[in-house]
Amino acid sequence: MDGAIETYSGWGRAHFATGPVAHPRTVREVDPGKPAFGNRRSYGDAPLNHGRAATDMTALDRIVAFDPVSGLLTVEAGATLGDLLRIYAPRGWKPAVVPGTGFATVGGAIGMDVHGKNYRDGAFGDHVTAITLLTPAGEREITPNSGAIWKATVGGLGQTGVITRATLQLAPCPGTAMLVTERRARDWKEHLEMLGSDAPYIVGWIDATATGAALGRGIVEEGQIVRGITPKAKAARTIPIDAPHMALNPAVVQAFNAAYYARVPKAGRSSVRTLETFFFPLDKIHDWNRLYGKRGFHQFQCVVPLDQADVLKQMLEKIAAAGVASPLAVLKRLGPGNGNFMSFPMEGWTLAVDMPNRPQVKPLARELERMTFEAGGRIYLAKDALAKGSSIRAMYPHHADWLDEVTKADPDGLYATDMVRRLELRS
Ligand SMILES: Cc1cc2nc3c(=O)[nH]c(=O)nc-3n(C[C@H](O)[C@H](O)[C@H](O)COP(=O)(O)OP(=O)(O)OC[C@H]3O[C@@H](n4cnc5c(N)ncnc54)[C@H](O)[C@@H]3O)c2cc1C
Repeated sequence: MDGAIETYSGWGRAHFATGPVAHPRTVREVDPGKPAFGNRRSYGDAPLNHGRAATDMTALDRIVAFDPVSGLLTVEAGATLGDLLRIYAPRGWKPAVVPGTGFATVGGAIGMDVHGKNYRDGAFGDHVTAITLLTPAGEREITPNSGAIWKATVGGLGQTGVITRATLQLAPCPGTAMLVTERRARDWKEHLEMLGSDAPYIVGWIDATATGAALGRGIVEEGQIVRGITPKAKAARTIPIDAPHMALNPAVVQAFNAAYYARVPKAGRSSVRTLETFFFPLDKIHDWNRLYGKRGFHQFQCVVPLDQADVLKQMLEKIAAAGVASPLAVLKRLGPGNGNFMSFPMEGWTLAVDMPNRPQVKPLARELERMTFEAGGRIYLAKDALAKGSSIRAMYPHHADWLDEVTKADPDGLYATDMVRRLELRS
C-alpha cells in the first residue's frame, strides 16, 4: 500500500514535504501506526509529515448507514462534506456545520473541529455522535460520553488515532437553494452590528485595504435555505499557472477590493444561489491558491472575545500598512466553545486574512499572534504555519489535558506531524 515517494504540500503552498504516503482503499488496509490526513485543506503544516510516512484517507468515503427519519449518518472518514451536502440536501438533510470548502473530509473536520457561517449551531464536533478510532492497540468506538478521549480527539489534530468512521447527526435542510442577501457595511461599527443579525447563515467580507474612516468596510452576506427553486450551477474554472509575483501587488488588490465592494448596490441586493456556491465559494475556482504565485501565501486566523473587537481593527490597520492585504479577508462571529481540549471556536469575533508570502509577513504574523494572546484570544491551527509553540500552548488552556490523553493513546508519538513538532505540542 505504501506508494512511491510523492510530493505533497499544505494548501497555502508555503510548505512542501515529501514522504511515503499510503492510500488504503478499505478500513482493513489502514496502517494504525501513521498519521492520517484528508484533503490537506488545512493551510499550514497540520496534515504534513516531512520525510516520514502518512496515510491519505480520501479513498475511504463510503456511506455505512443512514436513517432518513432521524438524520443519523455513519460514514467513512474520507467522505467530503461537499459530497454529503450534494447527496443529502435533496433528501432533506445536510451536515449541520460546514467550513468554507466542501473538500474538507469528515476526518479533517473532526481533527480541526471546524466552524461554519451558522455560529449559533456550534462547531462540527457538536453534531458528531460516535467516532471509530484505530490505533496500534486496536479499534475503539468513542462517543461524547467517553470523557477525555473524546475531548482530545475532536479538534485534536489526529493525535489520538486514525479516525476511520464517524456518525453524524445531520440537520434538517428545507431546500436545495440559498436565498442570499448582500449589504454594504460602510465601516467597522456597522460591520459588527450587521454580523449580529439573526439570519441563520451570516458572513462578512472585509476590504482589508481600507483605512481611516472606511476601515472595516465590506459586504455582509446573509443566507437562508429555501425550497422550490433550482438555481443554475456555474461551471468550475481553473487557475492554470502560478500567477507572477506582482499579480497581487497592493495597487491591484486595492482596485479589486474597491470594485468588489461597489458591485453590491447601496440598497443591497438578493439572489438565489446553489448551496455549494454559498457555502464553498472558492471551490469553483480550482487551484485558486496559484493566484499567489510560486511562493504561496499564509492565512492568519484568530478569534478574540466579543469585547475585544477593536483589537481586530488594529490588526487590519497593521496588515494594510504592511502592504500585504489580499482580496480574501473574512469576519465572522463564533458561538460559545464546546470544551474540547484543542478546539478553536470560542465566543467572539474571528478574522481570517490571506497574505501573500512576502518577507514582511513573518514579523507581522508574530505581532498579530502577540495581539491575539494579549486580547485573550487564540489562533486557528488549521490556518497556521508561523506561530510559536509557547503562545499556542498558552492560548489553549486545556493543552495539558489534551497532552495527557494523547500520550495515553499514542505513547510512541506515532501520529506526530510537522505542526505538532514545530509547535512542540507533544513535549
Ligand atoms: C477555501 C477554504 C476555506 C476554509 N474555510 C473554513 C471555515 O470556514 N471554517 C473552518 O473551520 N475551516 C475552514 N477551512 C479549513 C478546513 O476546513 C480545515 O483545515 C479542515 O481540517 C480540512 O479538512 P481536510 O480533510 O482537508 O483535513 P486535513 O487538512 O487533511 O487534516 C486536518 C487535520 O485533521 C487530521 N486528520 C484528517 N483526517 C484524519 C483522520 N481520518 N483521522 C485522524 N486525523 C485526521 C490531520 O492529521 C490534520 O491534523 C477552510 C479551508 C479552505 C481551503
